Amino acid sequence: MAIERTFSIIKPDATRRNLTGAINAVFESNGLRIVAQKRLWMSVAQAKKFYEVHAARPFYNDLVEFMVSGPVVVQVLEGEGAVAKNRDLMGATNPANAAEGTIRKLFAESIEANSVHGSDSAENAAVEMAYFFAGTEIVG
Ligand code: ADP
Ligand code: MG
Repeated sequence: MAIERTFSIIKPDATRRNLTGAINAVFESNGLRIVAQKRLWMSVAQAKKFYEVHAARPFYNDLVEFMVSGPVVVQVLEGEGAVAKNRDLMGATNPANAAEGTIRKLFAESIEANSVHGSDSAENAAVEMAYFFAGTEIVG
């Protein structure tokens, strides 16, 4: 499998509980390298645009409100099959359904406050990382 890059967000519920390092340790101990990272507080406009694909969903407004409720850490992760590997490490959207040892099983508070975002395809990863990082900020 090829070396890929994927986009990740450590969400406000996790930064609030000081879990950035604990989550990064899961990535790093499972073969993902953090090749870009910054902490920021999203604007409503940024969060709306980022989650535009979910605009018609009933949870959209709450999701946007949650994503701007505190700082996030946006990241680019690199490794073998990084997109799928990160989705495996994250676990199911609803922590009640997440497998043992996954980030969401370990740390998520709820289906909404579920600690991490991860791109679901290589195509979306490219779009999402370009939304937050200049090419010169991603250093493999
Ligand atoms: P994932 O983050 O696992 O890719 P989705 O793309 O389906 O999940 O949803 C994006 C985010 O929206 C989720 O991570 C979660 O924060 C929130 N979300 C998804 N489904 C629900 C729901 N039924 N109720 C509340 N929030 C939800
Ligand atoms: Mg998704």
